[in-house]
Amino acid sequence: MDELYADLVVIGSGPAGQKSAIQAAKLGKSVMIIERYPNPGGASLHSGTIPSKSLREAILNLSDFYTKSFYGKREFKEHNISINDLNFCLNFVLDEQIKQLRRQFEKNKIVIIQGVAHFESQTQIAVLDEKNHLTHLVTGEKIVIAAGSKPRNPKNVPFDKEMVLDSTRLLSIDHVPETLLVLGGGIIGSEYASFFAALGTKVTVVDKKEQMLHYLDREIGLHLQTELTKIGLKFIANRELDEIIRHKDEVEVKFNDGSSLRTEMLLYALGRVANVDHLHIENAGISVDSKGYIPVNALFQTIVPNIYAVGDVIGGPSLASTSMEQGRLAARHAFGAETHHFPTFYPIGIYTIPEISSCGYTEEQLKNLGFRYEVGRAHYYEIAKNTIAGNDPGMFKILFHADTLEILGIHIIGRNATEVIHIGQVAMTFGARIDYFIDQVFNYPTYAEGYRIAALNGFNKVKHKR
Ligand SMILES: Cc1cc2nc3c(=O)[nH]c(=O)nc-3n(C[C@H](O)[C@H](O)[C@H](O)COP(=O)(O)OP(=O)(O)OC[C@H]3O[C@@H](n4cnc5c(N)ncnc54)[C@H](O)[C@@H]3O)c2cc1C
Repeated sequence: MDELYADLVVIGSGPAGQKSAIQAAKLGKSVMIIERYPNPGGASLHSGTIPSKSLREAILNLSDFYTKSFYGKREFKEHNISINDLNFCLNFVLDEQIKQLRRQFEKNKIVIIQGVAHFESQTQIAVLDEKNHLTHLVTGEKIVIAAGSKPRNPKNVPFDKEMVLDSTRLLSIDHVPETLLVLGGGIIGSEYASFFAALGTKVTVVDKKEQMLHYLDREIGLHLQTELTKIGLKFIANRELDEIIRHKDEVEVKFNDGSSLRTEMLLYALGRVANVDHLHIENAGISVDSKGYIPVNALFQTIVPNIYAVGDVIGGPSLASTSMEQGRLAARHAFGAETHHFPTFYPIGIYTIPEISSCGYTEEQLKNLGFRYEVGRAHYYEIAKNTIAGNDPGMFKILFHADTLEILGIHIIGRNATEVIHIGQVAMTFGARIDYFIDQVFNYPTYAEGYRIAALNGFNKVKHKR
């Protein structure tokens, strides 16, 4: 057993842990990451963000998804796409990302210890190997808990790796199913549902809510559902799960209204839980909240000031993007570097097909808050670049204050939404008004031109009042 010391000890090598570690190293601190698995990267790299987005890209490319609209009813290629084709693309990305991550750790002299970490005290962490043998005792001046999350797996759901799946198990299926039932119309469920629908699988999504991704701006949510229906996805609203029964060749799902559905594969996407089981945070005087997350203040400090918690382990928004920034901010605060609170405006990217991205208020929120607002819209068919690229559906929706013209919310659905949102995000961060997009010259043809078209549409509705 080795006894070690580091200025910063980070538990977990996902996006939150990585950015904490690198930031502390850049501040000249010695850093150790304790990671349970042999390869760094966390759920983000091995079972979440990167695998799902790699599969999406592979499906779009291999099925010629975007060229279909040009060539009309040309035979789709999707039925020829095998899991091996998809995994080939996925494994290439994973290998590259792991190499890149290791290079970054090496360059910043960050030490990685493999094993399961738990707290012995407020400053000491024990590391156990897979046989539960103590391998290291690590003392840290500061500690960052970046242990992430895992799929919620209730005991009464008969999970396996073939038919009853969560988002991690889904990555080991050996063929593309004919039918897939997705329980849960949240981000993970909706994304995978759209990927499989694009592959030609008959997909049904069931949710207890009225709409998939119910927290989206309603107009954008309805737009999404229309597009998903066009690629064959069926959505069943207002239905709650009662029981899941695994038969020999299919899965039967019973609902509390007495109805039932049968499917070849089931994706259970009803939430994630924080990875706190092995941490023994009680030894450091910390406890979880009623939802199982580690409570923190606005600076990501737990109740124990030298211990920080960041990423999925503290609950929403539970994104790799936000986790990274939380990790960076925590390390800056821990070592007295200049810092700031987490940004008010940040984008949410949802990689359904079509993709969605938004920043700021939805129209429903503005109504509830009593804002005087106006809306500017640009449909993708009005954007020359979109016609050139394949004439895909989509829209820009910009919400702005009817009197001050300040931009209050931006919602984009369609190709490149997750990229172009950042233009709006920057504008909002600097408090821009809607006419900013009118007074600027945009590259032409580009998707970004959608901002200008939407701004003109919105501005024309209020200009007579000015
Ligand atoms: C299917 C799916 C798709 C997603 N898509 C996106 C997306 O497109 N964009 C986006 O921004 N986000 C996406 N996310 C969310 C994103 O993956 C998470 O928000 C992100 O991984 C959280 O980062 P983290 O560092 O907090 O935790 P994780 O990435 O979960 O990493 C935590 C690490 O801690 C380790 N660990 C845990 N406990 C211990 C212990 N006791 N000792 C040692 N090591 C431990 C784990 O092994 C793991 O490696 C997606 C998630 C899923 C599941």
